[in-house]
Amino acid sequence: LTERLQNALGKLRKKGKVSEADVNTAMREIRMALLEADVNFKVVKDFINTVKKRAVGAEVLDSLTPAQQIVKIVDEELTKMMGEKAVPLNKAPHIPTIIMMVGLQGAGKTTTAGKLAYRLKTKEHARPMFIAADVYRPAAIDQLKQIGENIDVPVFEMGTDTDPVEIVRQGLTQASLQNNDYVIIDTAGRLQIDEKLMQELQNIKDLAKPNEILLVVDAMTGQAAVDVAEGFNKDLDITGVVLTKLDGDTRGGAALSIRAVTGKPIKFIGQGEKKNDLDIFYPDRMANRILGMGDMLTLIDKAQETYDKKQADDMAEKIKENSFDFNDFVAQMDQLQQMGPLEDILKMVPGMANNPALKNVKIDPKDIAHTKAIVYSMTPAEREDPDLLSSSRRRRIAAGSGRPIQEVNRMIKQFNQSKKVMNQMTKGNMKGMDQMLGG
Ligand code: GDP
Ligand code: MG
Repeated sequence: LTERLQNALGKLRKKGKVSEADVNTAMREIRMALLEADVNFKVVKDFINTVKKRAVGAEVLDSLTPAQQIVKIVDEELTKMMGEKAVPLNKAPHIPTIIMMVGLQGAGKTTTAGKLAYRLKTKEHARPMFIAADVYRPAAIDQLKQIGENIDVPVFEMGTDTDPVEIVRQGLTQASLQNNDYVIIDTAGRLQIDEKLMQELQNIKDLAKPNEILLVVDAMTGQAAVDVAEGFNKDLDITGVVLTKLDGDTRGGAALSIRAVTGKPIKFIGQGEKKNDLDIFYPDRMANRILGMGDMLTLIDKAQETYDKKQADDMAEKIKENSFDFNDFVAQMDQLQQMGPLEDILKMVPGMANNPALKNVKIDPKDIAHTKAIVYSMTPAEREDPDLLSSSRRRRIAAGSGRPIQEVNRMIKQFNQSKKVMNQMTKGNMKGMDQMLGG
């Protein structure tokens, strides 16, 4: 999706003035890109109509930067389609807030229950409790218990022989005795929607009266995820959606149609298997990501969690002033390494998300050591001013670091490219970035 959209919009970006024919061509390509990404047909049609209507409007074609205007419209309409604003978790007026996880088998309910509890614990100092209501596989209860142990959250379980509704009833009593402020009910899934499962979930819902019914869907399943969402919503009237496995989803079509088709907000996205791989869903960021600008803001959020505010501020400032140099580059590399697997992080960097070279990339810590060796072989002056790096200096650096000259050249080229993209990116998004940084 990203690649095609980038192409369509990239062609426009290069133009000064655009004609109605240019708009039509771009719309055709955007339409193809969305359909290819498995976005619901009707959603695509509405989307294109809206964008086109705005794009051929006099304000755009007559403006000084029509191409940018169109890119902006596409960005805005994508954001709107996904719900405009982040929607927080529902909360009960009196504790506990009851959250029921539902979804097909393997979608990520249990994992997400764990991530959510971890999030509530760390961000709100909450005292969540799990109820193990998936009684069809003994392994499911063990999995939840293991997660609970790992993040220090109690699990209420009664094995596999009790009716799930009864388990939930007793679990809720236990939670009020323990004063838990959140109860997260992990339910069973099936390979596809079936009546028996829906009946069971309905019974649990009737008893527990959850404040939040979170449907967990696997983003990698594309249009199927949208059908699943429609089905669950029809039967259970869900309150929100969690889109998992977005770390593996290259198409992103599900994110685009779910809101439009069900009218229910995506509240969180799962981007990995670890306990802190659950992020709030921001429609505008997702639109940026789909447009291939990278998810800079999420990256900065992550950065802030990991390194201190001062460092993050400095980095943003440097990018803004375009004075990012090789010293920062190495410092950033060190910080990035602390943030998690580099290949995940890189995908959030502008322009990298859909870089074909990154698709199957595994980053070898050795490569990082090599890159650092190259930087360390530069003089302080060279590190601060990459423009100094003439070919004779590059040869000296290659010899000093023991790396081939081609590698040195490649690294410098990559550095310059990322610097350029980061700078362009921040210009467009400085306001959001300042806000993120508490400015
Ligand atoms: P459930 O059957 O719905 O409870 O699904 P599980 O929580 O057991 O998850 C099924 C598999 O998906 C597990 O291997 C999880 O580690 C994996 N998984 C869940 N969420 C994510 C995610 O956001 N990203 C990735 N890569 N894997 C995930
Ligand atoms: Mg499960």
